[in-house]
Formats: sequence, C-alpha cells, structure tokens
Amino acid sequence: MNTILIKDGLLVESDRSWRADLLIEGEKIARIASHIKLDEVPPDTTVVPADGLCVMPGLIDAHTHYHLISRGTVTADSFAEGSKLAAFGGITTVIDFADHDKTRPLVQSAQDRIAAMSAGMAIDFALHQGVYGIPKALVSELKELKEHGVTTIKIFTTYKNVGYLIEKEGLRELFSACKKLSLMVSVHCEDDELIEQTNQQHTGTYTPADHPLLRPSEAEYRAIMDIGKLAKEFDMPFYIVHLSSARGLDAVRELRSQGVSLIVETTPHYLLLDSSFLERDDGPLYIMTPPLRSVEDKLTLQDALVAKEIQVVATDHCSFTKAQKLASDDCRLTFPGIPGTEELLPLIHTFAVASSRMSLSHMVRLLSTAPAKAFGLYPQKGSLRVGSDADIVIFDPEHLWTLSAETLHSEAGYTPYEGFGVAGKAIMTYARGRLIMGDDVYLGTPGEGQFLRAGVPQVYRGFR
Ligand SMILES: [Zn+2]
Repeated sequence: MNTILIKDGLLVESDRSWRADLLIEGEKIARIASHIKLDEVPPDTTVVPADGLCVMPGLIDAHTHYHLISRGTVTADSFAEGSKLAAFGGITTVIDFADHDKTRPLVQSAQDRIAAMSAGMAIDFALHQGVYGIPKALVSELKELKEHGVTTIKIFTTYKNVGYLIEKEGLRELFSACKKLSLMVSVHCEDDELIEQTNQQHTGTYTPADHPLLRPSEAEYRAIMDIGKLAKEFDMPFYIVHLSSARGLDAVRELRSQGVSLIVETTPHYLLLDSSFLERDDGPLYIMTPPLRSVEDKLTLQDALVAKEIQVVATDHCSFTKAQKLASDDCRLTFPGIPGTEELLPLIHTFAVASSRMSLSHMVRLLSTAPAKAFGLYPQKGSLRVGSDADIVIFDPEHLWTLSAETLHSEAGYTPYEGFGVAGKAIMTYARGRLIMGDDVYLGTPGEGQFLRAGVPQVYRGFR
C-alpha cells in the first residue's frame, strides 16, 4: 500500500492549527502525531518534508460549472481541464450542477451529469441538481435523487424568460418536500419582476457598464427576503449562492434576526472586483450574474466575511474564452461567467490571511470544512482526521507570485485577476492519497475522480 509521511508541517483544521506529522496509507489519513519516527512506518514510505509549510484538508469548490452547455455553446474548461485547475489551486473536490431536463425524472438529469463527470474528472465531485419546474411526482423524484446521493437542489428566482423560474405555489410545494426529506435548497437570488421592470424602463445603452443597472442589488434583497419568508414558514434552512451586494447582506441580517437559518456563499469576484472593471475596454470579460457591484458593496462583503456572516467562499467558475466573451459588447448578449477555481486559494489567503484579517483556520473553514458540512460530505471531506480521505494540500504561505494568464491554466485564456500580486501557493495536492500536482506539474488522470454520494446536509443537525 502507498504510504506517505508528511513531516513537520503546520496542520490546519477549521478550529486550530498545530505542528505535527501526518501519515497517509492508501486513500486515507492513517495517523497524526507530533512526531512519527521513520522506523514506525514501512521502509518504502515516501517522506515529504513540510517544515515552514501548511498542511490543509483539500479545498472544496462548492460552485463550479465545468463543461457547461449554454446558449448554443460550451464553456472553455471541461471536466479534465477543471480538475487540472483545481489541482493547481489546492482543490480536491468540486460540487458542480446538473441542469433540469423537465421532460425526464430529476434523477436522470443527475445521472447523465454524473456519468459525464465520472469520465473526465481527476478529483472527486458531488452534485447540485437544478429544479426548474415542479414534476407531478415531486416527492418521489426528490426521494430518488437523495437515494442516489444528491442532497441539494438549486433553484433560480430569475430567468423566467428561459424557463428556470418556479412560481410561488410551486415553491411552497418544493420547500415542503425538501423539508420532509432534509434536502438543502440552494438559491440564486435576484427578483425577476424587478429586473424585468428595470429593463422595460431602461432607455440608455447596453454596454458592460450598464449591466449592474439592469440587475440592481435591490433585486437581490427582494429575492432573499421572499425566499426567507418561505423558509421561515417551513422552519427550514437554505443556502444563498454567490451573494453579491450590501443590500443582499441587509436581507441576510434581517432574516437571521428573525431566526431564519441560512448559509451564505460569496465568491472571490464580489469580494475583490467591482463595477469599475466593466468600464474598461475589455469590460465584457467581467460580465457574470449577478453583476459586479460598487466598491462599497465589495468592502461591505469583505467585512462580513471577516465577521463570519458569510460561511462559504466558492468560485462559480464558468469560463468562456476571451473570444467568446469579447464577441459582443452588448451586456445582454455577452456569455455570463468567469473562471476562478485556480485563483480561489491564493486570493483569499492574500486578502484575508496574509493581511492578518483572519486566521488560517478560518480560511480552511470557509474553503473546505463549511462546504463539506453544508453539503453532506463531512468528515470524509473537509477535515484532517484519521479516517478522512487523504485529500491534502501542502501550501506555501510565503510564496509571492502574480496571477496572470501566463501563470494559470484555464482554457479561457485570461484571468479576471490579471496582474494581482498574491501571497501563497499550493505546492503539492493529494487526492485520496494520489499526488495530482507537485512543483507546478499536473499529475492527475481523467476518470480517477469519484462521484461522492452526499449525506444529509449538516445544517439539519445544527450547523456550526
Ligand atoms: Zn453558478
């Protein structure tokens, strides 16, 4: 059996960090002790010196869209490429999305996506299932989904025009069923009516810089409040994907003060970019929904992250090539979405940890432990415990480098963070005991990633 001894690293868990040795046997973490002697391990053990380095549980990008087929095209990073970006970024698990084909049972949409991902992924993955309409046999379809290991569903409060929006009565039925089955409801929160109204009243241009005007943050506030009301009525938690604005955060605070339990995700782009990027000549490269907001919004979200009002940072990686993005500068036509998986760890480490605003443990909670718990993957994932999967990232917190299309690997051919100086780099990434990235060389193999059957989201058992 493959044994690896990682020596003298700083082990970082979500609640503490300490100096210790860690032994991997096969696919699992086998032992952790302050000092493991070489005569205690098999002679063919690989010894990895990690003095001065952090040893963290592999990160989880809980929001990716690899190989997304959308608007008659497909995104730049497929499952194999996405896995590669993840490995370079210290990420060992992603949670991707399956669209809802309303002509077939939900579980079939999920199974198609799982089959395609199983063939291409080099790291483990779980799935969120989109629900864009209410099937007749809703409860039994959701039950089947749960039995197949898919325990979150994703809904939209917008995109009525493409058939994604579920009307009020349908939502009540859905929430009631999800509560009964302890499924997590993830929500893209933008109020469709307000967006429609705003668009009808709009008389100006449709440049990238107009995009935030067409999808105002007030729409995020309204949608969160509406969904919150429903969640309160059914006394159930929900998960907000990609919170983008201070107004959205107002809604989160109001609902929490009313006792609603919600888990909030934001992304590096809402924390570190703002609408001024849309005014540049290459503005279309920065279009996603919800749109980038003001500098004040960005700073408010940063403070909320540090203050633990936000539980998860994930990327919403949805990469189009530069050519795809720049094909139109009409913000209604530009493909929405940006790359981000590979940039996640260095960005959050730089902005939050290297700047002394949060501890390494807090970062591990945001990027690994909290998503594992929220989506029923803990403690197999998201933890350095004996018995957990040997998904480990060895991270050099002092490595200074510059994010650039030249230094990163997305097929998009650009990074929204071009020229950002960062502190910290993943130098070795292990996925279930296999080294998939070391010293800037990618070693992953498509097909080696496994589908993770998610359990009950921990929020149903008291999320901490
Ligand atoms: Zn998304």
